[in-house]
Formats: sequence, C-alpha cells, structure tokens
Amino acid sequence: MTTGFECRNCSAHESRPLYASVPDRFHGFAGAFTYVSCARCALVQLEHIPANLGEFYADYRIHTGDSTAYRVLRRMTIGHCYLERPGHGKALLDIGCGNGAYIKEMAANGWKAAGYEFDPTHAAALSAQLGLPVISGEQALTDHAGQFDLVTFNFSFEHLDQPLRLLELATRCLRPGGEIYIAVPNIEGREAAIFKDRWFHLDPPRHVSFFTKQLLRQQLERNGFSEIETRDLAVPTGFAGSLSYRLWNRFQQATWYAGIVPGLLFSAVVRDGNFAISARRTA
Ligand SMILES: [Zn+2]
Repeated sequence: MTTGFECRNCSAHESRPLYASVPDRFHGFAGAFTYVSCARCALVQLEHIPANLGEFYADYRIHTGDSTAYRVLRRMTIGHCYLERPGHGKALLDIGCGNGAYIKEMAANGWKAAGYEFDPTHAAALSAQLGLPVISGEQALTDHAGQFDLVTFNFSFEHLDQPLRLLELATRCLRPGGEIYIAVPNIEGREAAIFKDRWFHLDPPRHVSFFTKQLLRQQLERNGFSEIETRDLAVPTGFAGSLSYRLWNRFQQATWYAGIVPGLLFSAVVRDGNFAISARRTA
C-alpha cells in the first residue's frame, strides 16, 4: 500500500515498486524519482510528481529548438514517427507542440495547423514566432470543441499529469469522423526491458506515465473511437541515449551522436522502442 498514490489510469491507490530513486540523467537536475506500476491496471507511472516539475523543463531541448545539425539528425532519426500527409485545408491540433516544428511543417503541407502548450507564456511566444495559433489552458480546448479533423500527441502524452482528462478534451476537439494519433515510448518494449532505469525514454521526472498499447486502446474505445491501429516506431535515439546513461550515468552528447549508427542497427532488430496508436472518432 502506497500512501497518497492515485493511478492516473484507474484511480486505484495501491502500487508496486518498479524503479526507485532514479536521477534526471538528461538534464542533471537534482532529485530522485520513483516509478511504480499500478496494482490494478499495471500502468507504470511516477509515484509522486515533484511540485516544481516546471523547473525540470528549463532549457528543455524540445522547447528551445537546437542546432541545424541536431534538427537534421532528429528529422532523419525520428521523422517517421510523425503522421504526415497533405492537409487540403483540414484542421490539425498538435497537443504539446514543443517548439512547433511539426505544426509548421504541417501548415506548409496544406493543413490549418494549430498547437497546444501548457505554459501560456510559451504558447504566446511560440504563436508569435510561427504565425500560427498556439492555444493554452483547458478552457481554450473546450472553446475549440468539434473544430479539428486531426488531433496529435507527438511524444507528449507521457508528460501529462492528467492524461485521461486531456484525452477527453482532445476527443471533444475532434469533428465526428476526425482522427487521433498518439506516439509514445513503449515501456513494454525490449529496449525498455534491456536498459531498465537507464532507458533513455524513462526521462524522469518529465515522463510521468507509460500507457501501453492495451491501456490506450481501452481508453480510446471508452472515448468513442474505432478503427484503432497501432504500429511500432523503431527509433535509434533510445539506444544512443541509453548507451550514454549506461556508460556515463548521464546524457553525454558525443556518446549520443556516436550511438546513432549502432542505434540504427539495434532499432532495426528491436523495433518496439516507441509506438503510435491511431483511431477515428465515431461517437
Ligand atoms: Zn491503475
């Protein structure tokens, strides 16, 4: 029995320990974080979210953008994880749009693209920079009910304190027949099993929960989605980052770059480091 714990999927109060006292190896901020799995539904999640979680996003690579080399490499290595197709004027909302690279690209590809970010200051600055709408706050999502043909969570769902609440709000943002696309790290994958608490995509405390294919499928069905499909996303960066954590106990840029080629080979065999689930709103 864990006191004060409430599962982010099923609200159960009992959990089992998984990884105790994991440091923030990516940014090296102080703290130790414990992941547990829910005793009822098995969702792996942070036992407690630090009260100062926002501070762990300072200089967050995904928000600050980065060098051209990093952007090119990122495009080459994880570009295939993103849903890309011509928009023909259809409307897209990307929840947790980060530095806005995806909505910018989709706008260029004919989409009426908008983003969502939790921090209103970041949202406003990004919107001004991109010339695209970036909304913030629950009310803004409610105000956009039924307005989008596609809603995406590109490696953002695992960051959410209240993932089911956001899924519900995102669902309401869709027109009937609209699509949802969620890409997340795969805690059930062999990459996660091999590297354990040094798995790059564990990323404490920024990664709060790890919904599995089965749990996401259940939640999508509950929210009135059908045509649910999943696909594995083979990504070399998980291996490269995990290698750095194994060797140096922290993120080391040179090791990360050097690990990309072996990471390509590794992820060609172990293809399940991340996955995407997509579905259509029918109700
Ligand atoms: Zn649970």
